[in-house]
Amino acid sequence: MIMKNILDFDYEGLQKYLTENYQIEKYRTDQICDWIYKKRIFNFDNMTNLSKEIRKILNENMLILLPNIVQKQISKIDGTTKYLFELADGNLIESVLIYYPSRTIACISTQVGCPLKCAFCSTGKSGFVRNLSVGEIVGQLLAIEKDNNIDINNLVYMGMGEPLLNFENVIQSVNIFNDPKMKKLGARHITISTAGIPHKIEELANLNKEIRLSVSLHATTNSQRDKIMPINHAYPIEEVIQSCRIYQHKTNKRVTFEYILIKGFNDSPEDALRLVDIFKDMKVMVNLIPINANPSGFEKPSKRFIDQFLDVLLKKGIDAVVRAEKGSDISAACGQLRLRKLKDIS
Ligand code: SF4
Repeated sequence: MIMKNILDFDYEGLQKYLTENYQIEKYRTDQICDWIYKKRIFNFDNMTNLSKEIRKILNENMLILLPNIVQKQISKIDGTTKYLFELADGNLIESVLIYYPSRTIACISTQVGCPLKCAFCSTGKSGFVRNLSVGEIVGQLLAIEKDNNIDINNLVYMGMGEPLLNFENVIQSVNIFNDPKMKKLGARHITISTAGIPHKIEELANLNKEIRLSVSLHATTNSQRDKIMPINHAYPIEEVIQSCRIYQHKTNKRVTFEYILIKGFNDSPEDALRLVDIFKDMKVMVNLIPINANPSGFEKPSKRFIDQFLDVLLKKGIDAVVRAEKGSDISAACGQLRLRKLKDIS
């Protein structure tokens, strides 16, 4: 008997499964979802409004599979918490909890490793293993909520992996988070971050959801972007931007662009002006991210260069901010906890 992970199911799917296989009344699905997603109870025996018989059926056939916490780093500065999770098959992934005055954000992974090999990223360096299941994506947020006994009200798909290369499972997890009978997280509080897969961005636009799109650009010419994001060979800047224009046209939403500032590489006023040109006639928000310590030896620009870059964008009417660094004392770049653990094991 193969046990099903209940976190793999969306509301309709779970209701159908329980009704068709075990003749469990439809309203029981509401009760089960309420225990898991609202009350954070992850043990069927503690779901006290279910009959003994239903609890027995659930225990014999289903699991509520949360990832195990292998390691946790907490910033002494702002409480940012980085998790290294172990999945049921022993694979490791990372997630991060970030606190802002009015919101708590979970940054979650969508793949074990990543096939895109961005030069500034530890995850890319460790290679790609597999896509995460729906339940493994959902389980990260629930495990963080359980560990901190908090209600997370913002979610970004910006951890390990390229979300749009695990499209179906990511969208199914968005549906679970968004469903009022499940996690009830407003779609506007959910952001999908991508390195830029044009046809998938268009597919996302066609779903007509309220979710936010964030695109990692990080360069202003193709020769520059080729050097740090190999995916650019397949999908150059023009194609990525064109798909973002289509996305914007269909959803009427502002697109966020992430731009890592690297000293002497992409931080000049000329780069800033090229960026302005790229975003001509678009509604965008630009997050400037001075690069953190990283395994490739890229350096952070001086404050003067960062301010100058920001100034050019603002003066040309582009909304932009320098993203405040969170958890700088634990600022191991994405994927470094996992990479370290893999080295320990090997
Ligand atoms: S930055 Fe994102 S897309 Fe690039 S290798 Fe790392 S995880 Fe993959």
